[in-house]
Amino acid sequence: MEIKLKNLTKVFPGNPAKNIPDAVAVDSLNVDIRDGELIGLLGPSGCGKSTTLYMIAGLKAPTDGEIWFGDEDVTHLAPEKREIGLVFQNYALYPHMTVYENVKFPLTNLKIVTNKKDKVLENNNLIISLLKEEFDAILNIILNSRFKGKFSKDMSARRMVKKYHIVTSVAERIFKFGLQNISSDQEKALNAALAKKSSLQGKLYGRLSEAKVQDIHNQIQAIDEQLAAMDAEAIRKDVYEKRIIKRDDIVAQLEAASIKEREALNAKGFSVDEKFNILDQNGQKIQVKKKLDKDEMDALIQETARLVQIDEYLTRKPSELSGGQQQRVAIARALVKKPRVLLLDEPLSNLDARLRLQTREEIRRIQQETGITTIFVTHDQEEAMSICDDIVVMKAGLEMQRNHPQEVYNSPNCLFVAKFLGTPPINVFDGEIKDGKAYIGKEAVLENKKLKEFKDGHKIKIGIRPEGFLAGSEVPDKKKVLSLNVNQIQTMGRDVSLVCDSEFHTDENDIKVIIDSLIKVDLGLNKFGIKEQKCFIFDNEDDKNPRIYLD
Ligand code: ATP
Repeated sequence: MEIKLKNLTKVFPGNPAKNIPDAVAVDSLNVDIRDGELIGLLGPSGCGKSTTLYMIAGLKAPTDGEIWFGDEDVTHLAPEKREIGLVFQNYALYPHMTVYENVKFPLTNLKIVTNKKDKVLENNNLIISLLKEEFDAILNIILNSRFKGKFSKDMSARRMVKKYHIVTSVAERIFKFGLQNISSDQEKALNAALAKKSSLQGKLYGRLSEAKVQDIHNQIQAIDEQLAAMDAEAIRKDVYEKRIIKRDDIVAQLEAASIKEREALNAKGFSVDEKFNILDQNGQKIQVKKKLDKDEMDALIQETARLVQIDEYLTRKPSELSGGQQQRVAIARALVKKPRVLLLDEPLSNLDARLRLQTREEIRRIQQETGITTIFVTHDQEEAMSICDDIVVMKAGLEMQRNHPQEVYNSPNCLFVAKFLGTPPINVFDGEIKDGKAYIGKEAVLENKKLKEFKDGHKIKIGIRPEGFLAGSEVPDKKKVLSLNVNQIQTMGRDVSLVCDSEFHTDENDIKVIIDSLIKVDLGLNKFGIKEQKCFIFDNEDDKNPRIYLD
């Protein structure tokens, strides 16, 4: 489902009497979300991401703007009509219900619009085809096992019958009848002899005198002779034929009932198509609203449980699950209604670090398997970057930038976005433009003709990603360097992290430089080269700090 937010705005009114100003939580947000996309709304606390999500869910009314799901304007549609699944950070499962009941809960009052079908015709048709196609097979399994003397173990036949328990109770009754109730006196005698033989064989395992053992063997031999004389094959044939006659009789009755049903419908001017939908006088399908029945609910619950991999825990209570499993139950509860849109509000924030990692992968998998359009709200940039197709970085109700996460990281459009993405964070220095060059202190770190458009002394911020430095022998141009004081050298296997300072650094955090561990660096003052694609210049004379794009 494609989603469009058009100038979406939310203002929480203040109170002039108490000098409380209006709060603009969301400010003319325009976002297009493609069908099947997983999009992250990302930003610091209070930037308006949750408010945006709740407006999409219908839980908060926009002050202005529109929300579209495909071709449908849902701006003023009630939440329950939007067909959304919502997962909150506190997953709020019902503690007294099992996992199964929790997942079932959203389905209990769900009404679906469906084509009105003629149940009599549909059931008759189903039962007739079952009787015709499966009856022989079941019968054969049972009869074969009986005549081999193991009629209590006819599991495959039972499984086949059970398969149809869910179909209709009528089918079940007919199968039971067909399978159990027509036996001849000869068959009963045969079964009794087999049972007796098996009981005698059982007795042989007891502590018995030799004479007693001999006696039992004699009895068994007598039964075997009796069995041989019975001609089991003839009995089998007889039982089989009787049941087939009975089956044909039932089929004929059902067919007659179906003809009557069709006549009754036609008399009212209705007809029925090949899928048993009832058609009105104009040949249009008649539609009805209905609640899901038990089997339909069960099928949805089982399917969703398998998808989120909680099928093993369906009989447990939430307190018997780990946090990650509980969150998966919450996701199942949101998905079971097959919503058009899945909305996730910080779904991982209650989980510990390991589970967070695992669950976010899970969310990605589930999202990809279902292809459901998903909006994921988080303030954790790493989380958003790792699973989202696109991210929308927000600040104070405004969209700052939207793109693929890696694209936003590689090319932030303002200082806020540059600082928001990346661990360790980007290093930001005070600088100025002189002579077409970007200076940090007395050092020109970058030269570009675009910078010639600015007057000398124009104030800028220069952001350099931790991996944007060249050190030691790597520095290509000894005249274009930045001096940093290296205070610590932390080896991390492949890379080395240098903790540095500089009087032009703007944050209180240390400067972090990450270089290859093969490069030799000493403590104290070092001159670093700069990788231009990892270095961004932001206009500091504009309070929005937009990026100055270089050619
Ligand atoms: P967090 O990550 O902390 O949940 P958020 O980005 O989701 O933050 P919102 O909850 O959407 O932010 O809030 C956006 C702004 O709207 C905040 O400044 C908040 O104080 C304000 N706000 C939210 N709800 C109300 C309200 N009912 N009345 C007044 N202001 C509100």
